[in-house]
Amino acid sequence: MLTLMEVLCTECGACVPVCHVNALRLTISGLKIDQNLCDDCKVCALICPVSALQIEEKELETV
Ligand code: SF4
Ligand code: SF4
Repeated sequence: MLTLMEVLCTECGACVPVCHVNALRLTISGLKIDQNLCDDCKVCALICPVSALQIEEKELETV
């Protein structure tokens, strides 16, 4: 799942146009991720100049 480190994000908007499913939106309250659209392609995470976007691998359940 893609997560945003809000403390790092400068709201530069650079990640918004690179998303191929338009899952990213810059709003007055910061960058928003539409998790229903995001397919974890990592493109936005790679282009973010401050590495504010990170893909968290789903933890393996052991129960
Ligand atoms: S590219 Fe990075 S710093 Fe810029 S708006 Fe996106 S997450 Fe924030
Ligand atoms: S990981 Fe890919 S699909 Fe998800 S928000 Fe970033 S660019 Fe869009």
